[in-house]
Amino acid sequence: MDFQRRGVMLVIASPSGAGKSSISRALFGADPHIGLSVSVTTRARRTDEVDGKHYHFIDVPTFERMRRDGELLESAEVHGNFYGTPRAMVEEQLAAGKDILFDIDYQGTLQLYEKARADMVTVFILPPSIKELRARLERRAQDSVGTIDKRLFNARTEMAHFGEYDYVIVNEDLEVSVARVRSILAAARLDRRRQLNLDSFVKGLQSQIGPA
Ligand code: 5GP
Repeated sequence: MDFQRRGVMLVIASPSGAGKSSISRALFGADPHIGLSVSVTTRARRTDEVDGKHYHFIDVPTFERMRRDGELLESAEVHGNFYGTPRAMVEEQLAAGKDILFDIDYQGTLQLYEKARADMVTVFILPPSIKELRARLERRAQDSVGTIDKRLFNARTEMAHFGEYDYVIVNEDLEVSVARVRSILAAARLDRRRQLNLDSFVKGLQSQIGPA
């Protein structure tokens, strides 16, 4: 039985290096019902990043114009760069019945809460330790030492916001964490309020029993 349902806006947040991107990629790659929200950013592209896939890389005037014209569903300054979620892409995917995965920070999450709380499920990923967080940032080795220190410092602020999320996962093992996020998504998809034609389905079942 295939029910029509509203898409889930699944937000995954964490300090840089806690594993959020790996978890998002694993989820997205394995599930055709999940669309990814590709943000715009003014930060420089890392060598392994593809424009239009990881981010839309734009300059500051373009970002400011998009924000002014209401083209961004939310936006924030993170680590000295601007980031934002293009509204049109989200609306298109939700209309197509897809769940959408957002990799955004706590400032963006709070802005989305104001607009779409009922559609959102939010997950905060914590690193098992700061030693491990630093090691992951260094292993990534795509940022300068100064940038790594800045990201580590910002992790303090980011982590202080765990209480604003529905679920919290300590990411000790990538596969386990991915399985946990999958369970959260599976439960969210079954939320009665997201299943749009339950009334008619139940009426159909009742009519097969006969009149009351
Ligand atoms: P990075 O530069 O490592 O790709 O991302 C830095 C931070 O910016 C991450 O915490 C990421 O979740 C956040 N971020 C990425 N895109 C957006 C966005 O569109 N909006 C907001 N608010 N944060 C974002």
